[in-house]
Amino acid sequence: MTDFATWLSRLVRIPSVNPLQAGPTSGVPGEAALATELAACFRSLGADRVELEPLVDGRPNVYAVVRGRTDRVVALDVHTDTVTVENMTDPPFDGRVEHGAVWGRGALDTKASLGVICALLEDWQRTGLRPDPTLVVVGSIGEEAGGMPGAIGFRAWAERQGMEIDQLVIAEPTELRPVVGHKGGLAVRITVHGRSAHSATPDEGANAIYAAARVVSALEAHHHDLTAVPPATPVGTGTLTVSIIHGGVASNIVPELCTVSLGRRLAPGEDPAVEFERIAAIARDASPLPVTVEHQVAGETGMPAFYAEPAGLAGALAAAAGTTPTTAPFGTNALRYDGFAREKVVFGPGRIEDAHKPTEHVTLADLDRTAAALTAWLQPG
Ligand SMILES: [Zn+2]
Repeated sequence: MTDFATWLSRLVRIPSVNPLQAGPTSGVPGEAALATELAACFRSLGADRVELEPLVDGRPNVYAVVRGRTDRVVALDVHTDTVTVENMTDPPFDGRVEHGAVWGRGALDTKASLGVICALLEDWQRTGLRPDPTLVVVGSIGEEAGGMPGAIGFRAWAERQGMEIDQLVIAEPTELRPVVGHKGGLAVRITVHGRSAHSATPDEGANAIYAAARVVSALEAHHHDLTAVPPATPVGTGTLTVSIIHGGVASNIVPELCTVSLGRRLAPGEDPAVEFERIAAIARDASPLPVTVEHQVAGETGMPAFYAEPAGLAGALAAAAGTTPTTAPFGTNALRYDGFAREKVVFGPGRIEDAHKPTEHVTLADLDRTAAALTAWLQPG
């Protein structure tokens, strides 16, 4: 009998809080300790090739390749970072097994899938089995914050060696429903340029906040236009949210600058570059003053949505888990895999609503169901 809980407890006990969310009780921040431990485990569990690839500030992805019986290649991408533990009311790293569940930060999001795959590899090693496809297990850094460098790194790693991924499973809590789509994203900052003046003589200036208010109204109208059309896929329509406004320096000075930041969720088929230009045109048309429009983070030019009709991979995982395919309201590493892998789904045990909370756990029953689904996918023999 394979002990999934023991493996998972062991991984929960290694802190791997995302450095951008680290605090006084995080332990050593970052994924390095977990990745190093995983590399050692994968080696001892008979993986044919194991690599650590430092990507950001020495934080490494870990890759394990387990040769299969055929030349098909599939991958399981599990992020190794967790969210903060500073909001936890429960010991974050004890990994205790209690009330039919494993407890601690990351137990659900997303070390559960790592614990299960380690236990399955141990099982296969003991019984002399190999998966049908060659399996790449990826422990990727920086999913919870920081732009998903681990997913970017894995993709580049695979492409460098001409590795063609047939099917890709991205581990996240989806209640074991294969997620076949979610929205993409684009983050934009608009700056309105006015002219400052003493507020005693405001007409000698040009008030950037007044102009920005018109831009905000136009963006709100754009959001309503986006959501007024019937969605083309179950992922839903695009949306736009104005989320931050900054402007002005003192109550007796006409504001010279006002910046408006917004988040644009992209529906399948919407091109980030086209939508960026559309937003820029709306801002220019609405503002009586000059505007500059830029991406909020330099080099982050937006990520398209992902969606595909449920097919072989989604159907097989759903059948094995006793669930049905669905779409998700939240984003994942899948955003970095546009055009990569012939089929991809997001899949894993537990509810996303239970992640990032003051307590975190995954049930032993869900670990068993995860193992059954991954086994049906990988067909050891
Ligand atoms: Zn996650």
